[in-house]
Amino acid sequence: MKVLLIEDNERLAGFVRTGLMAAGFVVDLTGRVDDTLAAIATARYDAIVLDLGLPDGDGMDVVKAVRRPGGATPILVLTSRDGLRDRVDSLNGGADDYLLKPFAMEELVARLKALLRRPGHVLGMVLICGNLAFDTVARETRIGNQPVALSRRELDLLELLLRRAGRVVPREAIEDSVYSIDDEIASNSLEVLVHRLRKKLQTEQATLKIHTLRGIGYLLSDDAS
Ligand code: CA
Repeated sequence: MKVLLIEDNERLAGFVRTGLMAAGFVVDLTGRVDDTLAAIATARYDAIVLDLGLPDGDGMDVVKAVRRPGGATPILVLTSRDGLRDRVDSLNGGADDYLLKPFAMEELVARLKALLRRPGHVLGMVLICGNLAFDTVARETRIGNQPVALSRRELDLLELLLRRAGRVVPREAIEDSVYSIDDEIASNSLEVLVHRLRKKLQTEQATLKIHTLRGIGYLLSDDAS
């Protein structure tokens, strides 16, 4: 698995590169937007780890360049603690996940692996995660082969989270996809919906969990894997 690491802080770049290599990744390293755009144009990467603050521009330009031709390469953004807006914007702009600096190398590796595992979860029209199977055509959910009754909105929410399992889904993206513009949405509508879905999953002993990232969004993971 080949990773492009974009980080202009030399010490941090060296530390992350060493950690990624120890975890078995092949790593290319760049520290500027222009070098990065050149690297992306010539090589194929399985994933990108991106610092947003670069000396010659904004890391978001890299996200845009990767996504513009419909590129689906997973992108994990590294960002500082004070930039909540940065994190939301990067996720809405096409990044798949983010990690706050400072972070533990183990966590970066775990998140990267989750991003890389994602395509394997999709089997034709049935999305599978842990002991749950979601038939996207019949719109039926089964947990351990038992059908689970979910409302239309709960199904919409679950499908969105399943399609992006292991990644953070920003709340704005969820609201966009679960509610229509005519729906009256109270400020806590989404929390209530997530709470109901969580409860049903729990009751049926699903192995997957919906994690809340306060102020940002939600992440679905299979805790049994
Ligand atoms: Ca930087």
